[in-house]
Amino acid sequence: MPVHLVDHPLVHDALAILRDKRTAPDEFRRVATRISVLLAAEALRDVPMAAAPVETPLGPADARRIGSEVVVVPVLRAGLGMLDAVLALVPSARVGYIGLQRDERTAVASQYYSKLPNGLDDAYVLMIDPMLATGGSAVAALDLLARSGARTVRLVCIVAAPEGVALVERHHPEVDIYTPVVDRELNSQKYIVPGLGDFGDRLYGTV
Ligand code: URA
Repeated sequence: MPVHLVDHPLVHDALAILRDKRTAPDEFRRVATRISVLLAAEALRDVPMAAAPVETPLGPADARRIGSEVVVVPVLRAGLGMLDAVLALVPSARVGYIGLQRDERTAVASQYYSKLPNGLDDAYVLMIDPMLATGGSAVAALDLLARSGARTVRLVCIVAAPEGVALVERHHPEVDIYTPVVDRELNSQKYIVPGLGDFGDRLYGTV
């Protein structure tokens, strides 16, 4: 089952604030980080661990540390709103960027930038893209990650649409999707309804 609905009271509380059209960019940014911490923690639940025993002040203790390299890949520009959250959880994570631009008229995504770390084949990759709408840009970004060698990829979003989930499932059934909600539908401009509007515009105040 590639869709994991993250059903935590704190996630829904944060989502309510993000959806509210009265939420200003400064609060939107803070709450986007808060919800992303919770979603990313869930998406990292299966990250491989390695034994790392330590000495406490009272003696030896069994301990475990993250045993795999984590790479986080924000899809520009909206994915940047989730990046600090992942880096707070995994400060050692390396960061790759994928820039995709959606044609306002056709909603087709084209790539204008990418910079990915090497060694993706052994990494636990978190792709962060808050709005999974048509799925076109998510699939384009996942195609690029697969071509670059990534084998273990989790997609973390804040709102998904049924169309986007279906497209990712069709093209990348190996990718697990983490989202709090799958909303009702897309409108004629391919925005998620009810959604929360344009995530990047709300994050950066470019409405
Ligand atoms: N991108 C957004 O920011 N919002 C949507 O509703 C769809 C795509």
